Amino acid sequence: MNKFKRILTGLCAIVFCGTFTACSEKPHTTDGNLTVVATNFALYDFARTVCGDSCDVRMLISPGSESHDFEATLKDIALLAETDVFVYVGGESEEWVPDILEAAGASDVVQVRAIDLVETYVSAGTESGHEHSEGDGHHHETDEHIWTSIPNAITIMDAIQQGIQRVSEGFEFDWDGRNAYISELLDIDADIRRTVEASTQDTLIFADRFPFRYFTEEYGLNYCAAFDGCSSAVEPSLSTINTIIERVNGTGSSAVFTIEFSDRKTAEAVASETGCEILEFHSAHNVSKADFESGITYADIMRKNAENLKIALNVN
Ligand SMILES: [Zn+2]
Repeated sequence: MNKFKRILTGLCAIVFCGTFTACSEKPHTTDGNLTVVATNFALYDFARTVCGDSCDVRMLISPGSESHDFEATLKDIALLAETDVFVYVGGESEEWVPDILEAAGASDVVQVRAIDLVETYVSAGTESGHEHSEGDGHHHETDEHIWTSIPNAITIMDAIQQGIQRVSEGFEFDWDGRNAYISELLDIDADIRRTVEASTQDTLIFADRFPFRYFTEEYGLNYCAAFDGCSSAVEPSLSTINTIIERVNGTGSSAVFTIEFSDRKTAEAVASETGCEILEFHSAHNVSKADFESGITYADIMRKNAENLKIALNVN
């Protein structure tokens, strides 16, 4: 029995039974009472951008936490019981969503399931020769990291707006904020395309996990990664390290990437052997507590990724 099932089995006998009123029947106005909950950082950032100050937007995972280790608390369930719009990815690592909504008596809440909005890819695994073993963390059948493509991010923002409109007709979106944000994203998107166009290289080497399938597909890049999308097994084997070293030498890459919250073990082993630089590519799954408090955005993260992409692809 997984962690969520355990907590939910204990809860369902005592909480929120039979008290739910369907969201669409709630008389919501724009008096600031609308609550939007998003599971991960990227979705949270999109929701707060379209809402501006007109609703209460919350992120379900805690800043700084490993997003795949999320465990629902009683507080989370109480929050979901009061939620008007629930935004989630809907991938394999969020299979707990129906259970937690049921426990909160919120099964009929307006849901924005982002994975339904875009073309999806099957998780390709690694290209480094790393073999999966039984129980080495969840293996995604459908790669769920859809938000790492900027056009997908904009599609998700539009769907969040539609979700809000369903519960609050005439909701006053922060159009200026939303439009400025989207043009910021489109600038970064164009910058990435220029970089890819200008480079003679097209392969990104990740000495780490690889939650960027949608990014590389979007911009026509190849990749080589030490570990699968969100594998929790990131203890580097000699053969994994050697394969990455061979790819760095073979492509003449001047950099390898790590992702956020990485232990950097594989990257450091590769760097010490090849002299290549280690750069971060941030998936915006979650951010550190300090970054969260400083108000970092998905656009800030993608802009930094775009800068590091230039370095890795030797584009000035
Ligand atoms: Zn993931």
